[in-house]
Amino acid sequence: MGNNKYKILIVEDDRSILGFVQTILEANGYQVLTAERCAQGLLVFSSHIPDLVVLDLGLPDLDGTEFIRQARALSAVPIIVLSARTEEADKVSALDLGANDYITKPFGTAELLARVRAALRSGRLSPQATPASRFTVDDLVIDYDRRQVTVAGSPVHLTQTEYNILAFLSQHTGKVMTYAAIIREIWGSMDDGSVKKLQVNMANIRKKLGCRPGDSRYVTNELGVGYRMLDE
Ligand code: CA
Repeated sequence: MGNNKYKILIVEDDRSILGFVQTILEANGYQVLTAERCAQGLLVFSSHIPDLVVLDLGLPDLDGTEFIRQARALSAVPIIVLSARTEEADKVSALDLGANDYITKPFGTAELLARVRAALRSGRLSPQATPASRFTVDDLVIDYDRRQVTVAGSPVHLTQTEYNILAFLSQHTGKVMTYAAIIREIWGSMDDGSVKKLQVNMANIRKKLGCRPGDSRYVTNELGVGYRMLDE
């Protein structure tokens, strides 16, 4: 039983949060490794190769973003960042460095477990895997070969740019993609109007997919950060 458990590394210097996260994860059948400092976390990471990392950004020795930088050089393991509301900019740079998701403190048990499950799923769909020719979530289907999108079997008429954005998000399903990451992919470079342009395109995409404002079927809007394609 023991060795088919997912191994999750928690790097967090606040012992009450560390204990809280550890208790929840262990109670839900995960094997937990812990570290209270960044350097120690990197050591545990490279010796145990966990399936997922839950990472605090504000660590006493090195910034959590340094952990992401070094861990990403070794593997594509999913990383969920724990951030305080005062660390908005750090959160965005953590995502840009390759963190998969973030949870804002304080958070609850259900939210933590949902994010952990989603990140473990996205870890299984590694970028090295053979690219699928279709993507499906709920009643939305993207056919990459034909560049065609349907909702409940009916074709959705997207512009080239709209299609490219949706396809890009779907190739990183479950992961929050920052404005900067999407803009780099779609337009190559960023200027003053880029975020606005992206938001306008996303609004059109959502309308064409039949989503009302505030409806987060298919794609969630991570305010001030980016967008996430759902995977269930
Ligand atoms: Ca901290």
